[in-house]
Amino acid sequence: MSRPPATHCKRGHPMVGDNVYSPPSNPDRRNCRTCIVARNEARDRRACLDHHVTIASLRAELAATRQQLRAQRRVIADLERERSRLASIVNAPRVVTHRRRADGGIGGKRERREMRSIAA
Ligand SMILES: [Zn+2]
Repeated sequence: MSRPPATHCKRGHPMVGDNVYSPPSNPDRRNCRTCIVARNEARDRRACLDHHVTIASLRAELAATRQQLRAQRRVIADLERERSRLASIVNAPRVVTHRRRADGGIGGKRERREMRSIAA
């Protein structure tokens, strides 16, 4: 002979509607969802205390990580600016001076000869 279904759980929560949880593996069971949630939260709090983790320490860690991320993004942005600056130098048309230098240095006869051979 089976008992009629309880109207309240042992902690006094009404056993109606969404507050009744039946595990898929055991559909005949009727568990109090409020108690399950409270039990899980208490377990999570204990686990956090065991690891000396608090919401405050997690928030502090998150803030520090975000700050690192912002700093890394600034470095990336600086490198991007430097890269495009260097690219604009590399892609800029060459300036050929026409200074005459006996030693054939930069802008001298030898360089102009080299430039002509490249152009040819
Ligand atoms: Zn309950």
